[in-house]
Amino acid sequence: MLCEKCHQREVTVFLTECEETTPANCSTQSSALCAECSGFPRLPESLIEKGCHYCGGPFFSMAVNLLEPSEDLASHWVLCYQCARENFRFMQQFETDLLQLLATPNPEAQILQRWRKHDQHMRDWVSRRDAK
Ligand SMILES: [Zn+2]
Ligand SMILES: [Zn+2]
Repeated sequence: MLCEKCHQREVTVFLTECEETTPANCSTQSSALCAECSGFPRLPESLIEKGCHYCGGPFFSMAVNLLEPSEDLASHWVLCYQCARENFRFMQQFETDLLQLLATPNPEAQILQRWRKHDQHMRDWVSRRDAK
């Protein structure tokens, strides 16, 4: 998979950016980028050592902690390559649905609920994957 920006280097980061930490103000943007184009800050070693949030696999990328969104890097989740790809796929779907969610009477609650579902989806997906 090649970087969305330069179309030359292999993707190393699946990024989902959240501009504001409150779900209602969160305009997420997912992109698949190479290390150079992502310009990502170096992550704390302690975070990398934790391994994948869902399966314990080796560090590939990080993701927003969906259950407790925060700008604090230390509270982010680490994902392995496979989980990051699935997470990215699901996040792209979320972006499509976001406008609809924002039009509901209580968007913040709707979005949090959607994230919990996402988290659950990832857990189910990992247990199916690892059962094979
Ligand atoms: Zn690139
Ligand atoms: Zn994983």
